[in-house]
Amino acid sequence: MLVLEDINVYYGAIHALKGISFEVNKGEIVTLIGSNGAGKSTSLKTISGLLRPKSGKITFKGENLAIVPPQSIVAKGISQVPEGRRVFANMTVIENLELGAYLRKDKTEIKKAMQHVYELFPRLLERNKQISGTLSGGEQQMLAMGRALMSQPELLLLDEPSMGLAPILVKQIFSIIKEINASGTTILLVEQNAHMALSIANRAYVLETGKIVLSGDSKELAESEEVRKAYLGG
Ligand code: ATP
Repeated sequence: MLVLEDINVYYGAIHALKGISFEVNKGEIVTLIGSNGAGKSTSLKTISGLLRPKSGKITFKGENLAIVPPQSIVAKGISQVPEGRRVFANMTVIENLELGAYLRKDKTEIKKAMQHVYELFPRLLERNKQISGTLSGGEQQMLAMGRALMSQPELLLLDEPSMGLAPILVKQIFSIIKEINASGTTILLVEQNAHMALSIANRAYVLETGKIVLSGDSKELAESEEVRKAYLGG
């Protein structure tokens, strides 16, 4: 579904992605793990078109994404939940969700998408008239995910959904990610919480200073000495 080949991304003189290649197949949950500054967020931003690679190729369902303007990438079926949620704090929950459907015209389809979001996140229905800035961190994460789902993406990009959340909420969010995947959405998940990410993903790639240093089946990686030492606290 999504293939990155030999991608190089720079911030000015900083070489943030050094020739990375990976792929996500339809129906999978794939995770990119790695420590702070490894290039995980940069990878997602490059896929969603917020950053452009200096060289390399990105194809989505066989189409070259490098020539697609960022605003059209959502219409192609890719939606991103940014790091730090970034909900529109002064707007209500409903207004945030409606903005996630801004590309869609069919009112019945929009209603159906919202219904699906409320089924996944009943809390959002309870709070749908609340100003988003007053929601808890976990609720804002739910809202950011719900908003991204309003475009009914084929591929959902999630950037650090566990960031700043209490363990019980992290568990809840990860179980919903599995549910979203089971209902047909392919997922690329970026996480510093390698333990949780490996527990739900089919496959994983380990990033270190802009390079992929390990990849494979999540269960196998979780058991490998190298990953356990570096990312799972021994
Ligand atoms: P984190 O979890 O901290 O976001 P990450 O793995 O997502 O880590 P990136 O944010 O992708 O890492 O950063 C990769 C590298 O690019 C780092 O060395 C970082 O300092 C650098 N970098 C990221 N954003 C910028 C920017 N806007 N300008 C300059 N350098 C940047």
